[in-house]
Amino acid sequence: MPADIHATTLTLDSHIDIRWPEPPDPLAEGPMRVDFPKMQRGGLRAAVFIAYVGQGKRDAAGHAAAAERVDAMLRHIQGRADGEARRFCTTPDELEAAHAAGALAVLSAVENGYAMGHDLGAPARWRALGACYLTLTHDGHNDLADSARPQARLGDTPEEHGGLSALGRQAVGALNDAGMLVDVSHVAKSGMLQAAALSRSPIVATHTACRALCDHPRGIDDEQLDALKAVGGLAQITAMPSFLKKVPEGQRNPAGVEDMVDHVDHAVRRIGLEHVGLSSDFDGGGAVEGWQNPAETPNLTAALIKRGYGAREIGLLWSGNFLRLWRQAQAIAR
Ligand SMILES: [Zn+2]
Repeated sequence: MPADIHATTLTLDSHIDIRWPEPPDPLAEGPMRVDFPKMQRGGLRAAVFIAYVGQGKRDAAGHAAAAERVDAMLRHIQGRADGEARRFCTTPDELEAAHAAGALAVLSAVENGYAMGHDLGAPARWRALGACYLTLTHDGHNDLADSARPQARLGDTPEEHGGLSALGRQAVGALNDAGMLVDVSHVAKSGMLQAAALSRSPIVATHTACRALCDHPRGIDDEQLDALKAVGGLAQITAMPSFLKKVPEGQRNPAGVEDMVDHVDHAVRRIGLEHVGLSSDFDGGGAVEGWQNPAETPNLTAALIKRGYGAREIGLLWSGNFLRLWRQAQAIAR
């Protein structure tokens, strides 16, 4: 039964943005796509909330402001949990225990390595605050790596570092040492492939899609999918309509859960079920027909079941693969 499978699966969404500053109360059903009542209603059991900072000026003041913002956001996310109905989970074991206890799981991560400036001690500090991954870039190059979407408004050239910078390579090492996952969403293909080869634990693209089906610069192509498989990594297909389906400019994008599952199917056929997962990018632009907010999460599970995925496969897609990567990241920390 679809409902049984959904009800018993540890459903984890690996990328959810929050409003900042002045986030609305997540305990009340409110204006954001994601709040705890909608998670509860739709059986979304675990959410990775993101401490995000947009790319800004790469000087001391810009880096300091970004670091301060991320620190405050990580502390806020931790404060969304009460240790009972909502548990803040800093390890895979804590996440599984929260699920077993029937609690919602709150996780955190950092989006945009801009927030570390040139401080290689930042990953260890973020890890101590519970963060499970760092997305190396956002839109626009930073001092760590080239972005998949250079920003002319920031003075970006098409390519600045040729992938990862020397600092970016050190940052991957610092993330490994801290036990944080390396997220290559938003990173240029060159840097993504370099990070895959360099990282001592498998890398993840926490919110992406397949360029073979929709040629968007934020997606990853088949060569990148193959690189993820080669290192044991993971592509989390996300609910961003523009990554999933091409429509003529100015037209509404009708992408839905079926389109998401098309991208899941493509990645699974190309690199195997163990290297594919799911995310929404809710409150960061994500939402498709049938999965507009966490209350509608059963629709995505039902679409997977319709395509022939069983309970075991759905468990791996929703969280099993992410847990495996997170465990590997913890295991090589030092
Ligand atoms: Zn993003």
